[in-house]
Amino acid sequence: MPHPTYSVIVPCYNEEAVLHETHKRLTNVLSQMDGPYEIVYVNDGSRDKTPDILRELAENDPHVRALMFARNAGHQMAVTAGLDYACGDAIVIIDADLQDPPEVIPEMAAKWRNGAQVVYGQRRKREGETAFKKFTASAYYKILSWLTDGFAPRDTGDFRLVDKKAADVVRGMPEHARYLRGMFAWVGFRQEPVLFDRDKRFAGETHYPFKKMFKFAMDGILSFSFKPLKFITWLGALGILASGVTLLVLLILLCCGVPGGLWWLAMLMMGCTGAVLCALGVTGEYIARIYDEVRGRPLYIVADAIGFESEEE
Ligand code: UDP
Ligand code: MG
Repeated sequence: MPHPTYSVIVPCYNEEAVLHETHKRLTNVLSQMDGPYEIVYVNDGSRDKTPDILRELAENDPHVRALMFARNAGHQMAVTAGLDYACGDAIVIIDADLQDPPEVIPEMAAKWRNGAQVVYGQRRKREGETAFKKFTASAYYKILSWLTDGFAPRDTGDFRLVDKKAADVVRGMPEHARYLRGMFAWVGFRQEPVLFDRDKRFAGETHYPFKKMFKFAMDGILSFSFKPLKFITWLGALGILASGVTLLVLLILLCCGVPGGLWWLAMLMMGCTGAVLCALGVTGEYIARIYDEVRGRPLYIVADAIGFESEEE
């Protein structure tokens, strides 16, 4: 096998119903590409015939690599493993269920050839998903975009093509709570969208029930925004301010001979709660710093270093 230009990572969890079709459609597209390719299937601890199918595909097709997880570790970990093993110059991440159409890959590759380093698939519309999922997804992306000051692109999942350079940076990010779409946005480089229509699942059913979806959504927010902590501090400050204003009003009233009654208690409570919230917020800021240090993200990312001697040149 020549060194692959393209690596395609396909995370698979109980996908026996779709894998043959997925492989067929991927092969159709990839065999027309302008460079050699490999397909890295990652079996994420499936309990159905997925591992057998992958073994069979690997036996019959030299382009196929298969990683078998010892247990289910989750979609993001499956993609992470795929990234670690893929050796292409351009790496594509795609779902196994054909919701991300492989036919979009050549368009992504064309943008990559033109210099884009992260080409992300942006959904034009969602087929076959419930109104609830559409609504929650759209609301979530809006909130996430606000919390992260707009760096995370909307309606973007994990379907994307990344240049080796960008992939290397993400490979070097050892954080455990992995929200890959955020990480790929975070690394920077030249990012470009490709619009596509997200299809229905080809067969089988989603492995992202609400609970898992919710956890994943929280990962996205907590890994990329410390704003929730700031809210606590602001809320506390607001309590102290309200308490101060109430105190002032009560003192004026007292001078006029009005006793104020239970308002004194209310004033004290607002003040105390405010102080406690502020203290929590400040503690939180330190925890945020610990979190930042502990996850060990790169301090800066160099896209090009010009005029230095390098081994390649
Ligand atoms: N997947 C995985 N491990 C899991 C859950 C899902 O590798 O624990 C894979 C799954 O096989 C599919 C992709 O991740 O290729 C997306 O999952 P799914 O289609 O169930 O999610 P949805 O598209 O409904 O959000
Ligand atoms: Mg799916």
